[in-house]
Amino acid sequence: MALEWLRENYDWQAALAFVGLLAITSIVGNWLTFKIPVLAEMRETNRAVDKTKLARESFRNAIKINNKSGLYTNLAFYATILPFCVGFDSRPIWRHVVDVFAVLLVFDFMYYLTHRFLFHGTLLRKVHSLHHQARKPTYVDALYVHPLETFIGLSLFLGSIPLVAVVTGGPLHVVSMVVATLLFTHLNSLNHVYTNLPAPFGWVNTITGVHAAHHVDMSHGNYATLTMFYDKLFGTYEEPIIRETA
Ligand SMILES: [Zn+2]
Ligand SMILES: [Zn+2]
Repeated sequence: MALEWLRENYDWQAALAFVGLLAITSIVGNWLTFKIPVLAEMRETNRAVDKTKLARESFRNAIKINNKSGLYTNLAFYATILPFCVGFDSRPIWRHVVDVFAVLLVFDFMYYLTHRFLFHGTLLRKVHSLHHQARKPTYVDALYVHPLETFIGLSLFLGSIPLVAVVTGGPLHVVSMVVATLLFTHLNSLNHVYTNLPAPFGWVNTITGVHAAHHVDMSHGNYATLTMFYDKLFGTYEEPIIRETA
């Protein structure tokens, strides 16, 4: 039964299309985002501070190892599990929306628990403390993460794709999973960016300020990474910190 399900749903072309679409939308999205002058300016502010952090060889090496961990985890998943989880079967828009939300909310719940009880518990606190060296995070700190932590965090996200596919009875659409992956990746980066943006980007300051409050030291809440839903639900939400300067 399970084998039949797997055989029926295997679609390597869909997995390949997923990777291609993800690459194209990332490149175009990035290019478009920084056409907006205030966002380009913010990027320069972050780059200036990032440069001082990157001057340390140990910092650069940690990022290199972490990036490798992320790349290999992604590639292994894309080559082995993803072909069973994505397809092109058409479905109404609301199903796309539900699937994106389901994957992100399932991930965020698992990440909340992992972050709160493993990374801030006794078991993996030491591993996580590398990332918490950033007390005032800027863009590059999103990458200053122990490779084991990246492997675990990424696996929770990637694992939520087959989980939702199985629960909903079949492969998820390539396009909705690209959207979910873009949101996951870029919200995790954005969380660490220093922003002090004018209207109409004030909501971005709230997003970055919430995670900045988590980074003050290792005793603060805001454990989830995509929404503040679980922190509010479980009473660990803390107000965002808005910094005047990077
Ligand atoms: Zn933490
Ligand atoms: Zn962080």
